[in-house]
Order: sequence, then C-alpha cells, then structure tokens
Amino acid sequence: MERGAQTRKLLLQKKIKLRWLICQIEDYVVANMCFKCFRFSHRIRDCRRGETCTLCAGKHRLGECTASPMEFKCINSLTYNKYKNKNICTNHSSLDKNCPFASNLVEVQAKHGLLKWRIFATLTQYTEIDPT
Ligand SMILES: [Zn+2]
Ligand SMILES: [Zn+2]
Ligand SMILES: [Zn+2]
Repeated sequence: MERGAQTRKLLLQKKIKLRWLICQIEDYVVANMCFKCFRFSHRIRDCRRGETCTLCAGKHRLGECTASPMEFKCINSLTYNKYKNKNICTNHSSLDKNCPFASNLVEVQAKHGLLKWRIFATLTQYTEIDPT
C-alpha cells in the first residue's frame, strides 16, 4: 500500500501543476476551445457533451485522471480518425501543441485569416512521473 500512497502524492502534485497550466492556457487562448469537453468550435456554456479528460479522453475531470503519458489520448484526433477514416497520432493530450488535428486547424484558419488563438503549452512535460 505504500506504493499507492506514493502515487497519490505524486498525482496530487501533478494536479496542482496541471491546474496551474490550465489557468495559463485559459489566459492565452482567445477563442473556441471548450474547457469541459476540450473540443473546438464551442464554448463551455454551449457544451452539450460531458466532461472529457484532456489527458486520456476519459469521462472524468482532469484532476481525477490516473493515465500515464503512454496512455494519453487526444479526443480531437480520435474523433478525426473515426469520422474521416484516418490514422493520425492520438497518443497525446488534447492540449498538446503538437496535436496534428489542432496544427491542421491552425493552418487552415491561418490560411483564411481566421486565426484568433494558439495553443502554446504541452502537458506531457508536466506529467512525466517516475512510478518507482
Ligand atoms: Zn464542450
Ligand atoms: Zn483522464
Ligand atoms: Zn490531437
């Protein structure tokens, strides 16, 4: 059980760091990413989906997430693959600045002069936990 307690401690630390990071992101993102389901094109108050974890795409809050970076899943890349029958990388947080779906969106919006926002942070660097 000692190991469980240790993990919990690490998770609590992680949560604080993530909270902090989320705040930073919210300060900088000017537009349309929903901070409840982490999909694009609507705001929290128009959200008709449930809470989606930004790290693993599970149905829980970020603070309750126990996924390791290996288990991260990006909800936007997953959805894209599903509907477009593609196979882009999904093993990252949906706030990851290297998300292929988000990068593509940024590119398209920039082309149309619609770029109002930017995702600048990568969560993975804050969640590397040594499980020993
Ligand atoms: Zn939403
Ligand atoms: Zn999760
Ligand atoms: Zn993605």
